[in-house]
Amino acid sequence: MPHPTTPERLEDALAAQLSIDRDQFLDVYGAAWEVLEQPLDPGDIDQDDSKPWYVAGRPLQLMLQIDGPRALIARPVGRWQGVYPLVYGPADAKEISGDPATDKQMVAALLKARRATFRFCSLRRSQNAPEWMTGSTCMGCASQWLGVVYTGGCQLMPEHRSTREGHRPGRTPGCSPREQRP
Ligand SMILES: [Zn+2]
Repeated sequence: MPHPTTPERLEDALAAQLSIDRDQFLDVYGAAWEVLEQPLDPGDIDQDDSKPWYVAGRPLQLMLQIDGPRALIARPVGRWQGVYPLVYGPADAKEISGDPATDKQMVAALLKARRATFRFCSLRRSQNAPEWMTGSTCMGCASQWLGVVYTGGCQLMPEHRSTREGHRPGRTPGCSPREQRP
């Protein structure tokens, strides 16, 4: 029983919703989960908007939605709505079985498929999800080095939340401002 003043970690809350303990949750689903706060792209499933989606990975690699005893895991797919915003939706959504070995296999298959879409930027050599690539470079390098101008976006990059202070309003999607400093 957690101490009443101990803030509950999201992983603990998700494990409780799935009626499993934290160790099993970490073993099957891993850590660093966050609530998907962006608008949701319905993707390829019948979307139930009443339950939040959770996302994990940088770049995003897994999505999870829990609805009572039923839970879905899915591969995130990012789509730009015009030049802004970027929204994520679930693809290849699968209902979890509750059996750890089976669910681990499903998670591994989703991760493999998502990671297979990642590409290295030819300039910065960083690994990027396809929604952040334009040709052979990431969008950050395209704006920094190739004169490509975007109008919006960077604040929604989940992988750059921790460096948001480096983002300057009005600037093209800087994308890793930390790396851009001399
Ligand atoms: Zn780049």
